[in-house]
Amino acid sequence: MGRLFSDLKTAEYGASGHPEAPFRVRRTFDRLHSAGHAPERPKVQAVDADVVLLHGATHLDSIRRSTFDDPDTPAYPGIADIAMISLSGALSAADAALAGEPSFSLMRPPGHHAGKDRVAGFCYLNNLALAVARLQKRKPGLKVAIVDFDVHHGDGTESLVLGRDNTSFLSLHQYPLYPGSGGETRGNCANIPLEAGTDGERWLRAFEPAFETLLSAKPDILAVSAGFDAYEGDPIAGLKLGRTTFKRVGSLLAQTKLPRFATLEGGYSEDLPLLVEGFLDGFF
Ligand SMILES: [Zn+2]
Repeated sequence: MGRLFSDLKTAEYGASGHPEAPFRVRRTFDRLHSAGHAPERPKVQAVDADVVLLHGATHLDSIRRSTFDDPDTPAYPGIADIAMISLSGALSAADAALAGEPSFSLMRPPGHHAGKDRVAGFCYLNNLALAVARLQKRKPGLKVAIVDFDVHHGDGTESLVLGRDNTSFLSLHQYPLYPGSGGETRGNCANIPLEAGTDGERWLRAFEPAFETLLSAKPDILAVSAGFDAYEGDPIAGLKLGRTTFKRVGSLLAQTKLPRFATLEGGYSEDLPLLVEGFLDGFF
């Protein structure tokens, strides 16, 4: 079984009616724990130097001072500290993966919409992209393949890794949909736009050849933005993946036998705990 990093402090913020809600971590934590997983606190504590690997020097400061403005991404009290805990989970999962253990960071806030100098789409710091950058700083030349299966285009991640050496990115997402980008492939960033209503079988038929192409670059490690909002029961998007599809995706990633880690991105249905459990059944 792989390593699971989580911290229930990341369930301690929220706003009434906001879909990115505390239950996502709290109930998933409980479910995974009763399924035999052993959640651990992060082993790496994120520091400011980790953030400026990709974000602008003043970005974290703007989160600390609440001087940003995005209606989807509120200035919750203490959100900078909580975002650093979420980042710590991603960094810990990346380290564990490099040491040979498949790992998952069950934290919030998510990260894949956060760009160099912007919070967006419930995201403050780009956890996954920062974890990749930190790995590549420690191991120059490390080839990383990023897979983003959240229903939304990973626009923040794309903006941070576009043209980056030894890094490739694959995003499958509903299109058109927030954030509006991801209609076409750009350089090292492969985008697969899918129309509303796409089901699990069609999704997998799109994923498998694109994933083969990603693997042809012979990556050393897989970094996965695991969003579960392509689920048929998700309240905020229109793809129709069933529960079993997420387990299948986890299995396809695991079949590579590559070092691998994943971070929680979106997923807003009440079934999120089951979807994550299924994914990890395949991924670990
Ligand atoms: Zn999403």
